[in-house]
Amino acid sequence: MTEAVQHKHIIVAIDGQAGVGKGTLAKRLSQKFHFKYLDTGTLYRGVTLRVVESGADPKNAKECINAAKNGFDFDFKHVGDGQFAAFLGERNVEADIRTREVSQVVPYISNCQGVRDVLFDFQVNFAKEWKGKTGVVLDGRDIGTRICPDADIKFFLDAAPEVRAQRRLQELRARGSDISFDDILADVKKRDAQDADNTKPANDAILVDTSTMDADTVFDFACTKLEKF
Ligand code: C5P
Repeated sequence: MTEAVQHKHIIVAIDGQAGVGKGTLAKRLSQKFHFKYLDTGTLYRGVTLRVVESGADPKNAKECINAAKNGFDFDFKHVGDGQFAAFLGERNVEADIRTREVSQVVPYISNCQGVRDVLFDFQVNFAKEWKGKTGVVLDGRDIGTRICPDADIKFFLDAAPEVRAQRRLQELRARGSDISFDDILADVKKRDAQDADNTKPANDAILVDTSTMDADTVFDFACTKLEKF
């Protein structure tokens, strides 16, 4: 007989810049504590994919808001084996939203306030619904500051750009890409600058510099902080 899961009915917010290890930590916490998980970056990437594929102009606010509103049938699901995927309707877009092109365009979409407003409700409702059911972890940029200012616990992860670029290089090389370290580092620094206004630690966030920490150490640290709930 399997033991009933004792859910922690809490909201965990994890924020930080690109490549800082938010997703890795969020996935592991969701597995260990049976939290529902939302990678909020996939929302912005999903809108970006629609903009790119429809030939709309990423610098035109109206066209970006339309992509976020009209027929934006987004879902983020556990697809088994600790893996998660973003869906637009029935289509699994997990690979398509993570291309270099989408990563380069996404800050234009996420800096459009109208798009942020449209995506706000989805995220707030998701957090409220799943806090009551199983507990929930959201990762992104503004979860602790704007989406869930009342989150029960907030982490803000940081790491040097070179470290984040090196991690990204390993991921991309594993997928067969031959992109250079310098190109990735330039992408990382550019995206940091473009995302700066929307990526701030909440006053009550726990700051974690992951530059010299491996994924296990970050995870163990976060688990000790969750023990009190
Ligand atoms: O986390 P990830 O790098 O996949 O996020 C992709 C982009 O989505 C970020 O570069 C940022 O522009 C945007 N984003 C955001 N607010 C969030 C999550 C992501 O602006 N909460």
